[in-house]
Amino acid sequence: MNHKREATPSAEVLAVQLRQLSRNLWWVWNPDAQTIFKELSPLVWERSNHNAVAVFREISQKELSARLLEPDFARIVRHVIAEFHAYMDEKKTWSVELLPDFKQPVAYFSAEYGMHESIPIYSGGLGILSGDHIKSASDLGLPFIGVGLFYRHGYFQQRIGPDGWQQELYPMNDPENLPVELVERPEGGRLLNSVEIGHSVVYFQTWKIQVGRAPLYLLDTNLPENDQHYQGLTSHVYGGDIDTRIGQEIMLGIGGVRLLRSLGIEPSVYHMNEGHSAFLVLELLREELKAGKTLEAAEKAVRGKCLFTTHTPVPAGHDRFSNDLMQHSLGKFWSSTGLEHGHLMSYGRVDPKNNDEQFTMTVLALKMSRAANGVSELHGRVSREMWKQLYHTDDLNEVPIGYITNGVHTPSWATIRAHDFWNKRLGLDWTDKLVNPKFWAKIDEDGLASDEELWALRTTLRRELVEFVRKRQWELHYRGGGDGPSGIERLLSPDILTVCFARRFATYKRAPLFFKHLEKMIPLFNNPQRPVQLIYAGKAHPRDNEGKKFIQQVVEFSRNPQLYGKVVFIENYDINVARHMVAGADVWLNNPRRPLEASGTSGMKGCIHGGLNFSILDGWWCEGYDGENGWAIGADYAEGSLEEQDERDFGYLYQTLTESIIPEYYDRDEHGIPRKWIARIRKMMKTLIPVYNTDRMVAEYAFKYYAFQT
Ligand SMILES: *Cc1c(COP(=O)(O)O)cnc(C)c1O
Repeated sequence: MNHKREATPSAEVLAVQLRQLSRNLWWVWNPDAQTIFKELSPLVWERSNHNAVAVFREISQKELSARLLEPDFARIVRHVIAEFHAYMDEKKTWSVELLPDFKQPVAYFSAEYGMHESIPIYSGGLGILSGDHIKSASDLGLPFIGVGLFYRHGYFQQRIGPDGWQQELYPMNDPENLPVELVERPEGGRLLNSVEIGHSVVYFQTWKIQVGRAPLYLLDTNLPENDQHYQGLTSHVYGGDIDTRIGQEIMLGIGGVRLLRSLGIEPSVYHMNEGHSAFLVLELLREELKAGKTLEAAEKAVRGKCLFTTHTPVPAGHDRFSNDLMQHSLGKFWSSTGLEHGHLMSYGRVDPKNNDEQFTMTVLALKMSRAANGVSELHGRVSREMWKQLYHTDDLNEVPIGYITNGVHTPSWATIRAHDFWNKRLGLDWTDKLVNPKFWAKIDEDGLASDEELWALRTTLRRELVEFVRKRQWELHYRGGGDGPSGIERLLSPDILTVCFARRFATYKRAPLFFKHLEKMIPLFNNPQRPVQLIYAGKAHPRDNEGKKFIQQVVEFSRNPQLYGKVVFIENYDINVARHMVAGADVWLNNPRRPLEASGTSGMKGCIHGGLNFSILDGWWCEGYDGENGWAIGADYAEGSLEEQDERDFGYLYQTLTESIIPEYYDRDEHGIPRKWIARIRKMMKTLIPVYNTDRMVAEYAFKYYAFQT
């Protein structure tokens, strides 16, 4: 009796704490926490795409308390909650130790955030990068605040029609089902702010997501106070026409600054992640002028606080707005500065006096930032070349655009199995040592992980990917009213060299390049001794018909009788699909048209799982590849017509695949272990894991740009 009375309140306290934990994305990179949510309701967990909030909506207080009365389960829960609290209360963070005087927060602005599959407010790599950036900022203890938009319909879910054509579905993101809190005024009631767009005043409310120690604020115009038209302004990621586009960017930049002010936040740095948020400098400028500064002093003050990261290596990829659109959309706002419209336009023009030039967001950001950077060494160089006229020079050394190479948040991308593997061998705190090359050099130490253990890990992860694909195809079959999952067990094989290709189907990424000469490739899949299998996934932007044609081609390959079951296209690429693929892939294929891949990050996600990169020397791979830690497709060149480039790159791809990759993979000793392949994995892990992670990346931002004036 006594015993029971003591246990009950603690179960209740635990229940409350567990609910709180479901509302802090810390759990996204903590496998034990995920296991708890899954345990509570395996069905809801799976059906909701791993949504912890949805699990807790399903579970009654009664059920939760009853479950927590079970001592083994309660012990695990208590352990995870203690870890969570230790993380949140940590006093000696990286930032406190290394940058003790850096206290005023960084305000980080991005149009998309990819943090977890259950929060679909991202479209691709830019969003994934923002999500990984904010997670590492939290891990490092940096004072950091994210600002973005709350997309009620998010980004679309992809289905493939019988004709291989992409179809788009837009399910609703119900705030009740997300780990978001409505931001309220201190005196109660929701916090409302507004911006002027065109002739209207557009109101917005704000949702907050807690990402470990860092808050992320998402602006939302879906309010009865707004005209119907503006209620939908923030409904879709990069949705709608050019008016929506500029409206969203005004909301993000100008609205974002106003939100921070209404919360009493004075950031030390405004970090614009890509040009979408660059209008924020106009609001900062307006504030400085209103405070009585001269134009020159106001501009200087704004520049002193702004930092810009560019991601786009082609001129056509940058947001541009016409004079009329600018006048129409920003006229009312800009008139409050007392400055001429022509002056506004001059901030977005390479040649301020050229009235024919459109307004470019990147130009605005470059002109009004104290520092700017690209996202890999090569991309930094390409950006300096592209924008040198802005600095009136031909000498690239004089163009003030640097670079910080992207990374990934390794603890989020590591699957539960990878966490277990490294926890056992490197200790539970390996995730705190990601940037330490000496630590990762241990991979060569005797006894840490044998070839046999590494190969067992690879084999397990490959099996899990194969089963994931089979399950998805099986569900698809039933959805289509098929007569049963016959032959699913013949789909892919856990014993075959597995190549994966997954990313947005932007045409420059050349998804179908692998099959440029179908007749040469088909025998590789059907070789009885040394076969290959290839798994694809990826979405095309809804308005990108050329990208959709690429999907259609790839789907056709997967239906070719000679490739059936050996080439698969997985529908609806998202973070969850990505996590399975980067874990299971033996080889991660990337064949963009050089130099259009500013960085690329998907290939970095496989490193912790022992996946090897096979890539064009573009973006991060130019600096990551050392001749032994993966494979290059071709060399440093970009000459020739597009057709010539494709032909040459296909040639190198085929050659390296058939002469190096396949033979090495199937070169086994008497125990069936590919020793050379595993030696390559070790080399890869030592050289890539400590560099291509966001802890290193955010630390670089902090040292180079956030904490010190450049
Ligand atoms: C990592 C990732 C990307 C970015 O991949 P790239 O190779 O950089 O194009 C896009 N989408 C998802 C879902 C991802 O996980």
